[in-house]
Amino acid sequence: MDEQTKEMHFDALIIGAGFSGLYQLHRLRDHVGLNAAILEQGSGVGGTWYWNRYPGARCDSESQGYCYFFSKKLHQEWQWSERYPGHSEIRRYLNFVADRLNLRTEIFFGTKVCRCTFLTQQNVWHVETEKNKSFYAKWLITGVGCLSSTNVPNIKGLSSFEGNWYHTGQWPRGGVNFKGQRIGQIGTGSTGIQAAPVIAKECKHLTVFQRTANYSIPARNDSWDDDYTQWVRNHFKELKSLVQSTPSGHPFRISSNLTMEVSENERQSIFNDAWLKGGLRFRGVFSDLLTSSKANQQASEFIKSKIQRKISNPETAKILTEIDHPYAAKRPPIDTNYFETFNRDNVALVDLKADPISEIFAKGIRLRSGVEHELDKIVFATGFDAMTGPLIKLNVVGPNGNLKNYWRDGPINYLGLSIPGFPNLFTITGPGSPSVLSNMPVSIEQHVDWITKCIQYCTDKKIDLIEAGEDAAQDWTIHVRETANATLLPKVKHSWYLGANIPGKPRVFMPYAGGLVTYRQICNTIEKKGYSGFKLLKSTGATNIKKIDLQKLRSFALGI
Ligand code: NAP
Repeated sequence: MDEQTKEMHFDALIIGAGFSGLYQLHRLRDHVGLNAAILEQGSGVGGTWYWNRYPGARCDSESQGYCYFFSKKLHQEWQWSERYPGHSEIRRYLNFVADRLNLRTEIFFGTKVCRCTFLTQQNVWHVETEKNKSFYAKWLITGVGCLSSTNVPNIKGLSSFEGNWYHTGQWPRGGVNFKGQRIGQIGTGSTGIQAAPVIAKECKHLTVFQRTANYSIPARNDSWDDDYTQWVRNHFKELKSLVQSTPSGHPFRISSNLTMEVSENERQSIFNDAWLKGGLRFRGVFSDLLTSSKANQQASEFIKSKIQRKISNPETAKILTEIDHPYAAKRPPIDTNYFETFNRDNVALVDLKADPISEIFAKGIRLRSGVEHELDKIVFATGFDAMTGPLIKLNVVGPNGNLKNYWRDGPINYLGLSIPGFPNLFTITGPGSPSVLSNMPVSIEQHVDWITKCIQYCTDKKIDLIEAGEDAAQDWTIHVRETANATLLPKVKHSWYLGANIPGKPRVFMPYAGGLVTYRQICNTIEKKGYSGFKLLKSTGATNIKKIDLQKLRSFALGI
């Protein structure tokens, strides 16, 4: 691409070169015939996996389901090496896809978007980049992921720390040397649980600072042999149909059994089998683990007792299992030797519930009690300003104002795909869609296919503008909240699903908890009805957006 040109015009611009952006570019360029391009901040493809290179970074979805299913040819050519793909292997996979589909020619790397403004006179999006370049396009599609806006907590004194510190979501490309060093890790979510065992093996001493104890199921990762690869290749059709027919998009079925309808012995045996199989499958052994407190308690107690048995020091075991939320109401981690890591001589656990961090000082971390932990490096495994964060950061301005203002009380949109007052903008895996509650590539393919069809429809019918209608968006937003309220998912204090991990962020359950199958049906019906709920216009000029009844929405806000 001509890197010198300051202004470039396209039919469609896509932001982000991860799973979403790559497939969207392929569909719009190669199937609709649009002049489309991707703007990507990093210097390579990968999206989430371009940035998340921390020790132990690995996907929790199983490899046979963590891939594209739109092309049998691609599927047959690729070979995963393990049950769960590691971060570098996922980057290799996405590079392989970009090469096979010849996508690189339409990707602007090193291009960070800093503002997107809809120009009402021309009906185009003006996208400005950090390097003062301007791109224009009729269609703007975000593929920025749900977990790309990192959260470094505002802890007093960080700038005075004499060592280096890192956030796991922006890990240096060349890696970090921990050899002979004293490391402090803050955070014990899915990331921290993956990182700690690997860091512990490399460093002189690791101190894990835990605010909230977490469940974790053993991942039981293993390598794939050629026979299994062949089996996966031979079962392309079945695997595709499986991931598209389960509510989570994972390549396993959710049992229809109810937890309390089986005998105590049978229940324990089912939990135990799932524990031995490992991974996210544990969530699916009964259908009511996320809807019945009683059922959930059975699973929670089982997991806690298993964890306790792994840890030799009873005090450490107590701190690691004083878990304050139902199992899987926060995104459930899976691990490789996480709890066993605390049996190592070079690992210590700090209970921040009992003694919170008061500040970071030149030599390390000081707790409220005055206890000091001297450290050479600090690792922040402290998560993300999830889902809305990456979109708001783009500084998107529609005819009626900035998205940040429009979403100040939480995300309002239709299907997680389209926002009133932001014409011709589509948000792949946006808040209000199943996204993070599902196996992402499967959700991404569904969104990209839907958006592509919609753009094809508008092109065929010569429609200038399409955007979510306010009534449809309001109803959808309420439906998303009601659906979550029917589960245990909102019953958590600090969950990024609720935005509760970010100070000042509205506490609203963001993903759609109704399941991918139901969601797909809803999207298909709306498409078949000629995009019911959307405003389709052939005119130009600002669309007047009706005010959403925020009072009504707030009554569905979640509290515990
Ligand atoms: P997270 O789940 O939000 O966990 C952040 C951790 O940092 C929590 O333990 C949190 O404690 C702690 N924390 C945050 N601010 C803190 C503060 N000021 N002081 C002390 N502790 C603080 O973030 P994550 O682990 O990065 O995971 C985010 C999501 O990324 C996952 O849920 C998952 O969806 C995805 N992910 C996926 C994979 C995979 O597929 N392999 C791997 C990693 C991550 P509290 O719990 O008390 O807030």
